[in-house]
Amino acid sequence: MEIILLGPQGSGKGTQAARLARQRGLVHLATGEILRAARRAGTELGNLAASYLDAGQLVPDAVMIDLVRQEIRSAPGGVCLDGFPRTLAQAQALDETLAELGRPLDLAVALELPEAMLLERISGRRVCTGCGAVYHIVYAPSRVPCVCDACGGRLEQRSDDQPEAVAQRLRLYREKTAPLLDYYARDRRLREVDARGDVEEVYRRIDALLPVSS
Ligand code: ADP
Ligand code: AMP
Repeated sequence: MEIILLGPQGSGKGTQAARLARQRGLVHLATGEILRAARRAGTELGNLAASYLDAGQLVPDAVMIDLVRQEIRSAPGGVCLDGFPRTLAQAQALDETLAELGRPLDLAVALELPEAMLLERISGRRVCTGCGAVYHIVYAPSRVPCVCDACGGRLEQRSDDQPEAVAQRLRLYREKTAPLLDYYARDRRLREVDARGDVEEVYRRIDALLPVSS
């Protein structure tokens, strides 16, 4: 199964994609986390992406398309994409790649959340500097404050979750990514989901749209 989660920053894509991937045996392909991990590891990709990440700018399409092509090829059991595609060129390249592989997209799920709730989720988000696990200071706190439950790493706020970068990222979302909702709606691949409520509630709404798992 091939699924995309769309939606603005803070709508819960990463949280839901991780869960969906675990339940459905898919690879969770989170492009933002791949780039942050590359930066932590100091790879060529990480160094290239660093300035874009901090400024809340999009990494160039050619880099992202190459990256995702490779990742999809090495996940023959299916992917749940989170953070890709973000532009029309990325969406078209994704369709081409999936067509070449004979693995058409099953569904694009768009998470919808009012702006005030996006900002509340983003401002409370904390991520592990060791493994990238995601927490929220109110809604998903770690057992010990500032310490990752999974690996014991230190939790911190993402540099691009500071108000200035957030405003820039939400602007870019509206300008470049929101038009993709029409792209997927045109041939009935889009399903819109209310992303209010707790993680379990939202998960049940998404799960109800997918084929029954065996
Ligand atoms: P995205 O990947 O769309 O940017 P995340 O999955 O990282 O969003 O979620 C943003 C923040 O909101 C995180 O801190 C996460 O723990 C929290 N969060 C995610 N889903 C919910 C929810 N349903 N209710 C409350 N907080 C949530
Ligand atoms: P995210 O974790 O999805 O919020 O992504 C964090 C950052 O990674 C973005 O602000 C971009 O700088 C970069 N990024 C992630 N995915 C993409 C993409 N598909 N295209 C361009 N840049 C991306």
